[in-house]
Amino acid sequence: MSAQLALDIPAQPAAPEKWGVVVDEARLYSIGGSPTDWWTASAAQFHRSGRLRHLSTLIIGGSVELGPFDREDADFARTHLIANGVRPELATIRRWSEQPHLPGCRKAKPCSLCTPAP
Ligand SMILES: [Zn+2]
Repeated sequence: MSAQLALDIPAQPAAPEKWGVVVDEARLYSIGGSPTDWWTASAAQFHRSGRLRHLSTLIIGGSVELGPFDREDADFARTHLIANGVRPELATIRRWSEQPHLPGCRKAKPCSLCTPAP
């Protein structure tokens, strides 16, 4: 179903790019405090609205990605997190991709590295 994507089609400026905000939940929880409580409630809201997906799961938390947003909304979401006490380095904006890449992976296309184990 993704065969057409393999064609070398030039980027179309008309199609708006989507962005995501990667949140390092594991570090957020390890730091603790009121940002953690705020995040727990906010993450549930993002999850209910279909704007949160899990990238990796560790023993405590993991990494999640908020989105997809247009760039303005992604900036707003990140600023909102920081305003509520989340450290700036724990919230990273990157291009949205259909495949949920692991934190740190900068690819937008599907990659085998981030394919979940069956
Ligand atoms: Zn990847």
